[in-house]
Amino acid sequence: IVNFKGKNAIVTGGSKGIGKTIAIKMRESGIKVAILYIGNDDVTDLCKNYDIKAIKANVANYSECQKAVAESEEYFGESIDILINNAGITRDKMLHKQEEKGWLDVINVNLISVINMSRCVIEKMREKKYGKIISISSVNANGALGQTNYSASKAGIEGFTKALALENAKLGINVNAIAPGYINTDMVSAIDPTTLEKIKEKIPMGRLGTTEEVAFMAMFLASSNADFITGAVMAVNGGMRM
Ligand code: NAD
Repeated sequence: IVNFKGKNAIVTGGSKGIGKTIAIKMRESGIKVAILYIGNDDVTDLCKNYDIKAIKANVANYSECQKAVAESEEYFGESIDILINNAGITRDKMLHKQEEKGWLDVINVNLISVINMSRCVIEKMREKKYGKIISISSVNANGALGQTNYSASKAGIEGFTKALALENAKLGINVNAIAPGYINTDMVSAIDPTTLEKIKEKIPMGRLGTTEEVAFMAMFLASSNADFITGAVMAVNGGMRM
């Protein structure tokens, strides 16, 4: 049994997909939640029915992160307890066909955002001697065709996670990553059906994961049950990489 009473969380990319499910599950467990997102996703349901604060911010931009964290702290009335670095994009193409924007955008949104957001919360977490930072990597951190940019960004998250975990291990701060396999979200619907069928054949369980299956791992890592876990990369992938 986990008691999240009085805790608060920022979830980046919380307007849809995995982040939205994490935000809802956390809120349902009593955590106060702010989501950061870009674009035109309808967040009325999250705000009205779940009492989640929605803030538009480009997490690839450090000053926007600083502003969004300050706004969240004001909303919570205290500094951040839990940071879920979930925002991410793909711009898949073989490197020999990739344009500069394609790798800069992916590195900035997927990796630099994690550094930006972690930098914004880490000092106060150190003062408070409490903090949970959980970043969403991917099974494809290990390399995937057409994903040099994405694999580099996700492998970068894993290295960053381990270094930040080391720096803060004695201060009650846990820094971990989750590496999901293929999960049923818009990001995966964007893959063409023939390729997706081939991908499914490579998943030992023969199916895509659900956003809930990733959210439950995030909830576990955010909880006191995971207090002795830091610098870990937790696989949620249906057996795709063992
Ligand atoms: P999604 O496309 O459904 O949602 C992406 C979210 O990120 C949206 O809320 C969007 O507003 C937000 N976002 C994008 N760019 C942003 C920016 N610059 N600033 C702020 N917010 C931004 O994605 P998803 O499938 O739910 O993926 C979530 C995370 O999980 C990503 O990091 C992704 O790489 C990772 N992941 C997904 C899968 C999968 O199969 N879906 C597998 C492994 C890892």
